[in-house]
Amino acid sequence: MSAAQAVADDGIDHGSTRGYYQHRSRKVVPICQPCRDAYNKDHRAKRAAAKAWNGGMIGGPPAPPRPVPTGRDCAKSGCGELATAPQPGARMVVVSWPTPSREPARWYCAGACAAYGRALAEVRAIGDRRA
Ligand SMILES: [Zn+2]
Ligand SMILES: [Zn+2]
Repeated sequence: MSAAQAVADDGIDHGSTRGYYQHRSRKVVPICQPCRDAYNKDHRAKRAAAKAWNGGMIGGPPAPPRPVPTGRDCAKSGCGELATAPQPGARMVVVSWPTPSREPARWYCAGACAAYGRALAEVRAIGDRRA
């Protein structure tokens, strides 16, 4: 049996990350060099990507405020979404506070959620008053 046949018969995708895992799951050892190389290359690329992302988070501008889970338990998708987003639903209203508030304008369901949003914006505005 030639080496070429051995490669074809084991059903492993040699030279790929997939092949590397196939070696491991099928206990086809030792793992061949093309598979190790592919795995290492992929691993390094993932690490580099993670590092770049972390660097961006630390060095870049602060992340925009995140949507709050509103009306606290409201399950409506889009409720509490920032008002810079398109209107999430027909009965959604923008809630904003007239004076500067740490709470940005957001979409809320008309009714209880909007009331909750106004209260939140008011509390955060009060917190900024220093007079
Ligand atoms: Zn292999
Ligand atoms: Zn809601």
